[in-house]
Amino acid sequence: MKVLVAVKRVVDYNVKVRPKSDGTGVDLNNVKMAINPFCEIAIEEAVRLKEKGVVTEIVAVSIGPKVSQEQIRTALALGADRGILVETDVEVQPLAIAKLLKAVVEKEEPKMVILGKQAIDGDNNQTGQMLAALTGMSQGTFASEVVVEGDSVTVTREVDSGSQVVKLALPAVVTTDLRLNEPRYASLPNIMKAKKKPLDTMTPEDLGVDVTPRVTTLKVEPPAERQAGIKVADVAELVEKLKNEAKVI
Ligand code: AMP
Repeated sequence: MKVLVAVKRVVDYNVKVRPKSDGTGVDLNNVKMAINPFCEIAIEEAVRLKEKGVVTEIVAVSIGPKVSQEQIRTALALGADRGILVETDVEVQPLAIAKLLKAVVEKEEPKMVILGKQAIDGDNNQTGQMLAALTGMSQGTFASEVVVEGDSVTVTREVDSGSQVVKLALPAVVTTDLRLNEPRYASLPNIMKAKKKPLDTMTPEDLGVDVTPRVTTLKVEPPAERQAGIKVADVAELVEKLKNEAKVI
């Protein structure tokens, strides 16, 4: 069974992002980039399924500038077998990403596509759902457990009220939530081996997809600074302040 995993290059989650001075976007100069954490979880899940003998091949796909090869190489070091880079310098939005992934799905015919539930840069939480809609594949989003049996996959989903278990016919789209697994670190020998694994490059034009943005970002600004809190001496003072200053009771 072949699995496709979508990995996005994003600003490392440890970095405190800053908007550009003209407010047109986030300043990416000299900023550490990494695989989106939910995509790391997606790779890990595919690798675990391969270790269990369920999956035979893992293909890591990334859409973005040439440097996104770095994140594909990381995915290869973590256990993916080969990579595909859809190279573009345009900032591609979720619908176009989903269309590109659909084109790759049509070429590769995987039984399952695993994506992160969201990318931590745009927080869109759209691509997996759009891909499922465009391809007609079943979808199990926010997965905290994935069990493949024959021609179906049972996905435990994290929903507001607890967990929901759905059984999907393959091929299916699965998006990962935090509790699905804890990704491993790439070992040095695997990082070296990853350099020799195959990585194909194609363009949106090759796949016949128009990636022109449909949404314009008007302004990016940091959230308002929070005011410092105060300490109160006792409950009486707290009640007094809530009543007379905050006027909430
Ligand atoms: P989003 O809908 O933007 O929050 O992204 C959800 C998931 O879609 C990510 O975790 C990735 O698995 C996938 N994805 C989004 N953008 C890209 C991209 N440029 N390249 C590869 N995968 C992507």
